[in-house]
Amino acid sequence: MRFNNLLVENYRNIKKASVRLSNSLNVFCGGNAQGKTNFLEAACLCCIGKSYRGAKDRELIGFDSEYARVYSACESRSGPREVCVFIPREGKKHIEVSGSSIAKMSELLGVIVCTIFSPDDLKLVKEGPSLRRRFMDIELCQLYPGYFSALVQYERALAQRNSLIRQCQDNPALFHSIDAWDEQLVKHGIKIVSFRTAYCEAVFEEAKSVHADISGGERLSCSYQPQTALLEGEKGFLRALNESRREDLSHGATCIGPHRDDFFVLLNDMDIRIFGSQGQQRTAALSLKVAQLHHATKVLGEPPVFLLDDVLSELDEKRQKSLAENFDGVQSFLTCASESTPSVLRKANPFAYRVQDGEFKEI
Ligand code: ATP
Ligand code: MG
Repeated sequence: MRFNNLLVENYRNIKKASVRLSNSLNVFCGGNAQGKTNFLEAACLCCIGKSYRGAKDRELIGFDSEYARVYSACESRSGPREVCVFIPREGKKHIEVSGSSIAKMSELLGVIVCTIFSPDDLKLVKEGPSLRRRFMDIELCQLYPGYFSALVQYERALAQRNSLIRQCQDNPALFHSIDAWDEQLVKHGIKIVSFRTAYCEAVFEEAKSVHADISGGERLSCSYQPQTALLEGEKGFLRALNESRREDLSHGATCIGPHRDDFFVLLNDMDIRIFGSQGQQRTAALSLKVAQLHHATKVLGEPPVFLLDDVLSELDEKRQKSLAENFDGVQSFLTCASESTPSVLRKANPFAYRVQDGEFKEI
């Protein structure tokens, strides 16, 4: 898959940029706060229809502008397509694929797929579980429409249930109305768990061999471990939701379900969070990301676009080289806060842009 060009208008600090892109490596260099991450986020907007950084649509519009717009001509095995995302300050976001408005976000997902690697991902194995859930979600949503639909409906039901639980704190008569939301959580939650189980199994297996290569033989093993009740099928999940109602009431939120999921990472059979060095934790994160790229390539039958935000400078030369080996045949966008292309990438002969104050100049 690839973007042939990207036209970005009033997107954060990028007033207007029309960027021609190479099929392989594209490097965006520049000082801090010039618009490099904003550009990657704009590209990703064409893949997932929202900010991968979790920003609200409104926050993407340039401060002095009434709208933001990102247009891309892209290509995959199924042929050329155009994606246009228009976000007005007033009114609703509007997305077109090859000139036709889409009614549901699922019509956009999969048109052009990306795997994103940002500095946050380097903390993947070290920090709290929300990063690990995001690791699974962004990719699963793009690869499997059934996952996206289950996740959206689950999150809706969860928000409704949590709001009802808070109302129950003052009005216990509402207690029995939680039943309807429990059924919804179970219906969609079980699907989420089953997608995550299969996905993690495949990606973790891949990560094991990637990690052994990069680290010179260290054993990485990861396991997806949802709460036990979720592994007992619909009945088990429903029973656990019922049993946790008192606890939910005291927390004012639902304590059981895939929104609390996590996966665990062992290195040479030891918990990497407790016993791993910072370098080992980063290498594991890198292996998981590369594994994710390989897995997406298998599922799609072609590589997704690889977006790397400022991660190279965070890795030592050996790891930079291991990462760079994955750029062959993959369209990649890479940002770096230096004035020129990092040496490890020079022989790849990339398209290079200097980013300054939201403007893009070919180097
Ligand atoms: P770094 O190397 O520090 O990561 P960067 O080039 O990646 O820098 P960006 O994250 O792309 O920088 O941000 C560039 C600028 O965009 C920042 O100064 C930020 O304040 C600004 N910015 C963010 N949102 C908006 C917005 N809605 N309108 C205008 N400018 C914005
Ligand atoms: Mg940045």
